[in-house]
Amino acid sequence: MRITCPHCGERDHREFYYKGHALALDRPAADAGEAAWDDYVHLRENPAGVTRDLWYHEGGCGAWVVVTRSTLTHKVLGTEPASEARA
Ligand SMILES: [Zn+2]
Repeated sequence: MRITCPHCGERDHREFYYKGHALALDRPAADAGEAAWDDYVHLRENPAGVTRDLWYHEGGCGAWVVVTRSTLTHKVLGTEPASEARA
């Protein structure tokens, strides 16, 4: 898979560190209970289709990049600097 860093251009995905889904998680209250904390720490969506993920260009410029891609084809549909990405 090739990822286009907004600063460095097209690079191999192995230059990047995958962080996870680009949307912020809703942190439960401190007293929310074991089930809520278990969900927060361990459960993630695993969509079949388009997703937006956060990647770190570890082997390049060190920028955080939001990558829009299809989990079905691994085709990258777009990238943008995380600092400019919509929530
Ligand atoms: Zn870069």
